[in-house]
Amino acid sequence: MNFSAQWTRRGFMTGISSLTAMILGSRKLPAASLSSSANGSPVTGFGQTGNVYEELGVTTVINGQGTMTMLGGSLMRPEVESVMALAGRHFVNIPELEVAAGKRIAEMLKLPPDYSALVTCGAAAAMLSGLAGILTRDNPQFIRQLPELTGMKSEVIIQKSHRNPFDHQLRATGVRLVEVADRDDLRKAVSEKTAMMHFSNFANAAGQLKVDEWAKLGKEYKVPTFIDAAADTPPVSHLWDYANMGYDLIAISGGKAIRGPQCAGLLIGRRDLVSYALLNNSPHEDTLGRSQKVGKEEIVGMVKALECYLQENHDVLIKEWQHRLELVSAEVSKIPGVTTKFYVPDIANHVPHMEIRWDKRISATPREINAALRKGKPAIVLSTGEEGEVLSLNSFMLQPGEDRIIAEAVVAVLKAHAS
Ligand SMILES: *Cc1c(COP(=O)(O)O)cnc(C)c1O
Repeated sequence: MNFSAQWTRRGFMTGISSLTAMILGSRKLPAASLSSSANGSPVTGFGQTGNVYEELGVTTVINGQGTMTMLGGSLMRPEVESVMALAGRHFVNIPELEVAAGKRIAEMLKLPPDYSALVTCGAAAAMLSGLAGILTRDNPQFIRQLPELTGMKSEVIIQKSHRNPFDHQLRATGVRLVEVADRDDLRKAVSEKTAMMHFSNFANAAGQLKVDEWAKLGKEYKVPTFIDAAADTPPVSHLWDYANMGYDLIAISGGKAIRGPQCAGLLIGRRDLVSYALLNNSPHEDTLGRSQKVGKEEIVGMVKALECYLQENHDVLIKEWQHRLELVSAEVSKIPGVTTKFYVPDIANHVPHMEIRWDKRISATPREINAALRKGKPAIVLSTGEEGEVLSLNSFMLQPGEDRIIAEAVVAVLKAHAS
């Protein structure tokens, strides 16, 4: 599979089409939980209807695509909302809070003894700060100097098949990415300039060197290894598996399946490297990462989100997500010529998905059907494969009742094109 093309196209498609969908159509949100403020008093003025988006003239969509940052990632857990409000009521020293939260997270995840964690403003930020820390360590001159690398290492090794738009965050530190294809290439590429070996977990199947071997080779060459596992929970064990595998640094999104604050993520890793990452990040000024501000609310919210995520019954959730898809399947398969198929991606968004295909009896392409759904009321966003060859969806970001709305809308749109 061509991962770059997939990423690029996915970004492009969501960018253009969802904007169209957002301009057309509109949907009322349940107002119940939204029309009173954190302290319980009613909201007046902006927000009083309970649908801040509608008040701004922006259409909300039913999300059958998954945890797409373009669509707002995920919906934060109510418990996270509550502790973020509590966090907003006091001043606190941010680096002290970061260290304390990291300690709590390391305990919750039962990380190896020399591991810690840092709350960042997302997995992409964790990539930049993590690499910056490897480059500068605690050298104040180097920290101020980035992305000018004089005196520091200057190369990151990555498998060619692992290149993707998120490696922009690595390049932002000033390093050069050195592409390798196999073990032999890697041996030749390692030099005194090598700062880090990067692994994009979703590309595991595409690369010759697999996830466990990459970590081992890093140890052999004494080069720190980094794994971008941003979208790779569930399973929940991925929160500690890569530390146990020997990765020095691990990036995870907080605002995807974990349903923490949308602007939060985790840098998990060796205690020394994590502390250097913090030195390169907000609130410290004159750093490359000063623009990646993390608030006290996000730090505290991330701790709560992890606590909730670890307590959840993941088997029950997966059954519920599958059940929703089966409901849609039962309805759309009644249309002559329409079939469905269930699948679960191996890695990245490892949750139940469903494809909907049809034969010549339906005279529309998946993209046309998807476009019609996006223009509908309520607007619905599904996916259409890499080449627009198939309509697909997942259900883990759906709110109660939205499976039925999707079923009815897909049936109506397909029937409108039936011969
Ligand atoms: C989402 C994602 C990121 C970025 O994560 P944020 O938390 O949104 O910063 C990085 N890498 C991959 C593979 C992702 O899916």
